[in-house]
Amino acid sequence: MSASDLPAADQALETAAVIGGGPSGASAARALREAGVAVTLFDRGRAAGGRASTRRSRTGVAFDHGSPCFTAHSEAFAERVAGWREAGVVGPWTGRFLRADPGGERDQAAAAGDPAVADGPAVRWRPDPRERFVGVPSMAALVGHLLEGAAEAHAESEIVELLGEPAGRGSAGPWLLKDAAGQEHGPFDAVVVAVAAPQAARLLGASAPRLARLAERAKAAGCFSVMLAFDEPLGLAPAAGDVADGEAPAAVDAVRLDRGPLAWVGRETHKPGRPTGAGECWVLHARPTWSAPRLEQPAEEVIAPLKAALQRLLGRPLPATAYEAAHRWKFAHCVKPLPDASFVSPKHRLAACGDWFGGPEGAGGVEAAVMSGRHAAMTLLEKLQRVPAGG
Ligand SMILES: Cc1cc2nc3c(=O)[nH]c(=O)nc-3n(C[C@H](O)[C@H](O)[C@H](O)COP(=O)(O)OP(=O)(O)OC[C@H]3O[C@@H](n4cnc5c(N)ncnc54)[C@H](O)[C@@H]3O)c2cc1C
Repeated sequence: MSASDLPAADQALETAAVIGGGPSGASAARALREAGVAVTLFDRGRAAGGRASTRRSRTGVAFDHGSPCFTAHSEAFAERVAGWREAGVVGPWTGRFLRADPGGERDQAAAAGDPAVADGPAVRWRPDPRERFVGVPSMAALVGHLLEGAAEAHAESEIVELLGEPAGRGSAGPWLLKDAAGQEHGPFDAVVVAVAAPQAARLLGASAPRLARLAERAKAAGCFSVMLAFDEPLGLAPAAGDVADGEAPAAVDAVRLDRGPLAWVGRETHKPGRPTGAGECWVLHARPTWSAPRLEQPAEEVIAPLKAALQRLLGRPLPATAYEAAHRWKFAHCVKPLPDASFVSPKHRLAACGDWFGGPEGAGGVEAAVMSGRHAAMTLLEKLQRVPAGG
């Protein structure tokens, strides 16, 4: 079918396609479905979840290898989190969180030639109190919950082209989507693009150049995740007296690091709803600036240097690992989000959302993605004055 064979353009919003099944696409799909729109969702991955998904080893050990947790800054998002907590798909991660400056004080003292401090602690620790939330029993549970009954989902379906009538004086014609295998899907009354900014720029270059240029303005940074299952507890803990303004906990659950190859290390097995056993699972995130020159390398090559960095933080040899894997996130974080809450063109029946829309409050990560997905859907519904079924 070609776009010109499609029916007339000014129909109500009865059907929509959502491209991308991460938190933003799932949130948009749910809001559209709740208003009675029939939603079809396409994701190129094996399962929805995007960067807030969970990876399982062959033996069934689960790692939240993308977003390890999320925070809630705005009241509106906190309300949504409260609803998910009631539904049992999100829980608070009440761990012991620290920030660490590996080698900071000692390096500075050595540079300043101060022998009194030069043999001070190798790692300077400080408390990192924040309310953090996780999906239960895994991060993937959040997107799974949002998508429940919300959309007809097509996994392993990468959309490579949007085909539609050019917008004339009225609204644009309905959309057809072409996937990587050359198959066409649709027609759809509207399309919501819910992928990372660089992916949106590439996808929309030909069909929606203005939106593609907007996506190019939001900058993304890549990083690596390393997943490690240890046979015994890692026992990561600062020495007594090494934590500035706080007590040294007996064991730490997650650390944000100020410098070096590692940006984050987190103990998966301590999150709520995770199975407990003799061993421990940890996820390490490489710092984006460390990752940038290595992004084209095979992901496995970063395991050794990141394990070495973890060993330096621990201050003794690591226990044996039962499982090791690495994942490359080409566009892990949006480092320069746009100030808008989403993009909606009622004329083109086209919307875009994702963590590259920080909104006026400058939100980021999962919060920005969820709120932006909802904003895009609600704006589309409002602007296209959807007539409720039978109305
Ligand atoms: C290592 C790491 C650590 C993070 N830490 C945090 C954190 O601590 N706190 C926090 O809030 N956030 C964190 N994040 C960020 C958070 O995961 C993202 O902001 C959030 O997932 C963005 O959601 P999204 O829906 O906009 O995009 P995504 O989650 O990327 O979802 C987009 C989906 O679109 C699919 N897709 C892409 N192109 C196509 C196409 N052409 N056709 C079909 N499907 C397509 C992808 O497969 C993906 O599933 C982290 C991310 C990573 C990778």
